[in-house]
Amino acid sequence: MRKRRRADQLNLKARVDTRDAARNAVTRPGDAAIIVRGRARSIVMACPCGCGDHLTINLDPRSGPAWRLIQRRGKLTLYPSVWRESRCRSHFVVWQNEIYLFGRNEFDHRRHPKLEECVYQQLADGRPRHFSDIADSLGELPWSVLVACENLVSEGKINELEKPDGRFIRPPRPSNIHVVERTS
Ligand SMILES: [Zn+2]
Repeated sequence: MRKRRRADQLNLKARVDTRDAARNAVTRPGDAAIIVRGRARSIVMACPCGCGDHLTINLDPRSGPAWRLIQRRGKLTLYPSVWRESRCRSHFVVWQNEIYLFGRNEFDHRRHPKLEECVYQQLADGRPRHFSDIADSLGELPWSVLVACENLVSEGKINELEKPDGRFIRPPRPSNIHVVERTS
């Protein structure tokens, strides 16, 4: 097989109604085709690592564990991450058409103060929450909220529960209790 370059971008080539049509539409790493029959059933991708394999990612909760395909401003986000358990074992995220391969390129941790403030407010009651749950509350993309959470962690404003849990919590406020030393 010809050695292919890995992909940094998802390229949606087609919406089709059969798996064969999807596989024909998908040739280069990062290419994708959505199989729609009444509703989006699955997305076929040429593996972004460049191994040449086709991946079929289920989007229909009635057919087993399903990914969410979020389309916003013409760009695609998949949630959660895709982790191949065989062959090339690629683990990647699709976030607004950008493909992030774990261990190859990292998330862009650009600061987004407004979103970070909203996320911080969402954690006001001191209870742990999963970043995807916070994203749903805010109408934001899960990966955007994950990055906001990680930025808040790096500032020491919130903590992440034991990895890879995905839940974040605001630590209790510093208490005003003073220790009074007893003298006898
Ligand atoms: Zn691969």
